[in-house]
Amino acid sequence: MRKVVLVTGSSSGLGKSIAVQAAHKGHKVYASMRDLDRRSALEADAKAAGVAIEYIQLDVQSEDSVTAAIALIIGAEGRIDTLINNAGAGYIRPTEQATLPDVEWVMDVNFKGVVRCTKAVLPHMRQARRGHVINIGSVGGLVGQPFREFYCAAKFAVEGYTETLACYVTPHFGVNFTVVEPGGMATQFGSAMRTRMERTGGMPKGEYLPIYEEHIRAAQALGAEASQSPGEVARVVVRCIDDAAPPIRLRTSEWGEQLCDLKTRADPDGQKSRDKVMHDFLNL
Ligand code: NAP
Repeated sequence: MRKVVLVTGSSSGLGKSIAVQAAHKGHKVYASMRDLDRRSALEADAKAAGVAIEYIQLDVQSEDSVTAAIALIIGAEGRIDTLINNAGAGYIRPTEQATLPDVEWVMDVNFKGVVRCTKAVLPHMRQARRGHVINIGSVGGLVGQPFREFYCAAKFAVEGYTETLACYVTPHFGVNFTVVEPGGMATQFGSAMRTRMERTGGMPKGEYLPIYEEHIRAAQALGAEASQSPGEVARVVVRCIDDAAPPIRLRTSEWGEQLCDLKTRADPDGQKSRDKVMHDFLNL
């Protein structure tokens, strides 16, 4: 079935790959970004792939922008079948050296942005008794990683948010929820995070610096094993768009699977926990 798909954060990386691959599958794709002047890379990829994409302004940190974008798509299409909450940003800094405004910003982009977009599409999906919200989480939403406590906390929040909606909105209104959990991805995410670190006070300081340096050495040694291309991860996401009974959570690589194994082995896709919660809390 040809679906109407809205992707956030499509100017680069994973969002850009998802937009092109979903359009290639025949879906009607609305590729959104906060700054439409940054659409040229996606336009070039879409042209090379021979696919048509609609471009739309959407800043996940602005409720007005989200509302306007959703209204525009509903006006044109009458529905949104799939929302892909992809926009996100990294942040590295130990708690002692982070400022509260920075913490609020990390939560705003990575968690509240997901909430703003989901809140705006949900009335339409509930009315239609179908739809799918795919949130791009991270293995960092299941396993905490050094110096990323705020980014991981935001992605943990996305996990809890997704799991909770899946336990009562799905069985009652037919709207599905999935959190996709990539490991490392070769995108501009890392360099944007380092630039942000420079802008917000530079390298971790004092006793944290040697620990941080050791962490960077260890992370670099992991190398290719821990990293996927955005195209590879996009293939997993786009398969999920067409899945009639999608999983609640989904890792995208063997490395990610192993990292999370101790937490996910008993219930890899979240279905067993959902069944238990539906039974115990909703008599379903
Ligand atoms: P990326 O290339 O930096 O893409 C992030 C996208 O989010 C950019 O298009 C960026 O737009 C957009 N964005 C940031 N703030 C926004 C806002 N307020 N409103 C709308 N869009 C906004 O990085 P990526 O790797 O593709 O990241 C995509 C998703 O994957 C994120 O949710 C990230 O947390 C997740 N993830 C990444 C990795 C990794 O290692 N790369 C691993 C696991 C999960 P601008 O161009 O305007 O900045």
